[in-house]
Amino acid sequence: MIDASFLSWPFFEDRHRQFAGDLNAWAAREIKPLVDHHDVDASCRRLVRRLGEGGWLKAVVPQAYGGISPSFDVRTLCLARETLASHEGLADFAFAMQGLGTGPITLFGSDALKEQYLPPVARGDAIAAFALSEPEAGSDVAAMSTTATPDGPDHVLIDGVKTWISNGGIADHYVVFARSGEAPGAKGLSAYVVDAQTPGLSIESRIDVIAPHPLATLRFEACRVPLAKRIGGPGEGFKVAMATLDVFRSTVGAAALGLGRRALTEALRHASSRKLFGAPLSDLQMTQASLADMATSVDSAALLVYRAAWTKDQGAPRVTREAAMAKMYATEAAQSIIDKAVQIFGGLGVTKGVKVEELYREIRALRIYEGATEVQKVVIARELVKLLEAQRSGDLDTVSGQ
Ligand SMILES: Cc1cc2nc3c(=O)[nH]c(=O)nc-3n(C[C@H](O)[C@H](O)[C@H](O)COP(=O)(O)OP(=O)(O)OC[C@H]3O[C@@H](n4cnc5c(N)ncnc54)[C@H](O)[C@@H]3O)c2cc1C
Repeated sequence: MIDASFLSWPFFEDRHRQFAGDLNAWAAREIKPLVDHHDVDASCRRLVRRLGEGGWLKAVVPQAYGGISPSFDVRTLCLARETLASHEGLADFAFAMQGLGTGPITLFGSDALKEQYLPPVARGDAIAAFALSEPEAGSDVAAMSTTATPDGPDHVLIDGVKTWISNGGIADHYVVFARSGEAPGAKGLSAYVVDAQTPGLSIESRIDVIAPHPLATLRFEACRVPLAKRIGGPGEGFKVAMATLDVFRSTVGAAALGLGRRALTEALRHASSRKLFGAPLSDLQMTQASLADMATSVDSAALLVYRAAWTKDQGAPRVTREAAMAKMYATEAAQSIIDKAVQIFGGLGVTKGVKVEELYREIRALRIYEGATEVQKVVIARELVKLLEAQRSGDLDTVSGQ
């Protein structure tokens, strides 16, 4: 990383600076030998284990269950994702899914669920996953059709199909959202932890994407799950999912920031060493304009990401607007930064094995998952209207917006 001056911003404490520096040094040393892009399952298993052994997965669970902070410290999560993504997309993925796949348990699970599931995930002994999306319910979560039907007093039977499930096929357990029927639409969903070995759960197919990582479609057929594995109350599934995404959405922005920052570094190095028309490429004013735009976008994205993370860490109950802005801006900006980097590399930029080509494939899905850019726009606009309505009705502090 050429410019780490953002770490001196007032969003951070010394523990964050230490964490980012140590993780960066660890990642530079450890990650490369663990990754084989032709075998993403084995690579992710190795990455999870080594991230656990290195103590980095302690950032994804609370202190009481083997973590480093009393609850989620979103700045630490964002720094981890930014740093890991700048080294290797799969390492960021392995880290992020341990957090997203247990986030609902951390936020809403019973003590027994936390005791059972969180420590192994923090040690890197178990792999987690988050199963919300379905073939007919992606952006429109409330259209979900997977059902959880009572089976005796203490169990439910889960039936349905989940798709686009990261870690599908290698996870030890899945947080599964299903229609439990307390009310129509979003109010009739519940969340359950389903162990991968549960009879009735199968991997229907694996999905191959442009930046490969473990991804699958799951089928649930009369999959019998104890009610004790429900996360939160009956009908609270949507609330559980949204609160989890409220924590993790800005971390997607952080991952994009890491990819974008790496692209800027690569582009700068290339532009200053590649000779064109008798001088370095970086002497050409149009290249300078590109580099200036890229650097400004990196800093703008960082400001939005760490503003959202800091706000959440200050105890804001929800950071819906801030996290949506961070996710939307950082992912869109990173796409444009990486595209500019590819252009600066010329033919080399689209050559397999060159880092910017990998970044170009890696960034694309981040503009779609955990709420596509269009969904974030809807969220931001709705939050602004809510703010105005609250101000009009007089029950809002106009300065803090709380
Ligand atoms: C690599 C990858 C990993 C994923 N991992 C997981 C996972 O681990 N767990 C999980 O549950 N899901 C996961 N997903 C699923 C992801 O969350 C969905 O793909 C996403 O929610 C979009 O749903 P969809 O693909 O069905 O697209 P659709 O819902 O069909 O949307 C298509 C497009 O419509 C546009 N759109 C959406 N809403 C609006 C709107 N209001 N106005 C205008 N345009 C709009 C957007 O451009 C969107 O991309 C993953 C997806 C990918 C690609």
